[in-house]
Amino acid sequence: MLLEKNAQPGLKILISGGGRCNVTTTKIGADLEQQYGARRGRFLRHALRAFPPAELCGLLEGAGVALREEDLDKIFPISQRARDVRDAFVRLAIEAGAELRCEAALTALAPGADGFAIASVAGRFAARSVVLATGGLSYPKTGATGDGYPLLAALGHTVTPTFPALAPLVVELPWLRQLQGIVLQGVELSSLDRAGKVVTTRRRPILFTHHGLSGPAPMDLAGDVEEQGGCELRFDFLPGSDRDELEREWLAAAAAHGARRIDSLLPVALPERLRTALAAEAGAVGALANLTRDVRRRLLADLRGLRVAVPRSRGYAHAEVTRGGVALDEIDARTMQSRLVPGLFVCGELLDVDGPIGGFNFQAAFATGRLAGLHA
Ligand SMILES: Cc1cc2nc3c(=O)[nH]c(=O)nc-3n(C[C@H](O)[C@H](O)[C@H](O)COP(=O)(O)OP(=O)(O)OC[C@H]3O[C@@H](n4cnc5c(N)ncnc54)[C@H](O)[C@@H]3O)c2cc1C
Repeated sequence: MLLEKNAQPGLKILISGGGRCNVTTTKIGADLEQQYGARRGRFLRHALRAFPPAELCGLLEGAGVALREEDLDKIFPISQRARDVRDAFVRLAIEAGAELRCEAALTALAPGADGFAIASVAGRFAARSVVLATGGLSYPKTGATGDGYPLLAALGHTVTPTFPALAPLVVELPWLRQLQGIVLQGVELSSLDRAGKVVTTRRRPILFTHHGLSGPAPMDLAGDVEEQGGCELRFDFLPGSDRDELEREWLAAAAAHGARRIDSLLPVALPERLRTALAAEAGAVGALANLTRDVRRRLLADLRGLRVAVPRSRGYAHAEVTRGGVALDEIDARTMQSRLVPGLFVCGELLDVDGPIGGFNFQAAFATGRLAGLHA
């Protein structure tokens, strides 16, 4: 029996991937596991190896949902309709004998000698085993309101601090907000810790918005921002370039074309509005002939490592996933069974697991969900 709080199941699937549902990824093995970070990837190893992306795709294709690969190793339904994915899972569950009860929010869970006593808004039930899959706190309008955390905490489980992740970022610098509408490709963005050490680096599209930053790279770093209560991000606008060589080129340009504007030194691959803003931020205005050593060095440093303070993300209402959750050392990674409460299984985003944009969160949710289902 599946108890669902909403009037229909899988609302989050319906809105995922911009309504197209990025079901999973083409990444496999260690490459796939690493996407979740070392500790979380290690926990997920069994689930991901037992139900890798190819098996998830096979299950969906067998249920009539044809899939295809798109940019950045992402897998989507060819129909481009998330609804097809959701409907296929509901059909598979019903065909397998599941009884689906909607508008049936679970309110209490009590283990006893013969299993569990379950209270829900649709009545009371008894169960030999229970799989909790209530999700995290992100996009609460889809039903993910963190209901599982207090239920599990009451049974002795540790819930690690939770944070919004995969969310757009707030930046309070007026000059940066004025860049709204610009999209950058091929630029490297890193989150830094308090000591200035890189936590995560992404070379994926960056979108400037009227709130600050959005798009795959900034959203991937939101969890790091939130976990640190705000942090600095570092832009490398010309990754892989040689700093000394750049400086030599700039010196030569200044000598040969002294009347040109200083921002003409910046790569033409960058949008003009951004070049102008970067030059202004470094105090690099006027003609090349007047470029001082200090300003040249500042502009060079900004080009290869501009630091921007990010106080927070836009929060759970805009976050695609929740970082933190049920402590992984209290869950058997081979079965998803609680180590504290026999017969109780935990899976999906409710666990202290999150991945970057690219189908990794569904892949983890489906793989852990399947393990829980097989062993419950
Ligand atoms: C806008 C958006 C886009 C996304 N796009 C992608 C994407 O393209 N690819 C990807 O991999 N990931 C994506 N994600 C992330 C992905 O949707 C989630 O990580 C995934 O859905 C988590 O699955 P889950 O089953 O653990 O939780 P959820 O999908 O949140 O499901 C939890 C379910 O439990 C129900 N529930 C909650 N409390 C109770 C209760 N007390 N009783 C009964 N039922 C309850 C909820 O109503 C809900 O149906 C996206 C997320 C968002 C918000």
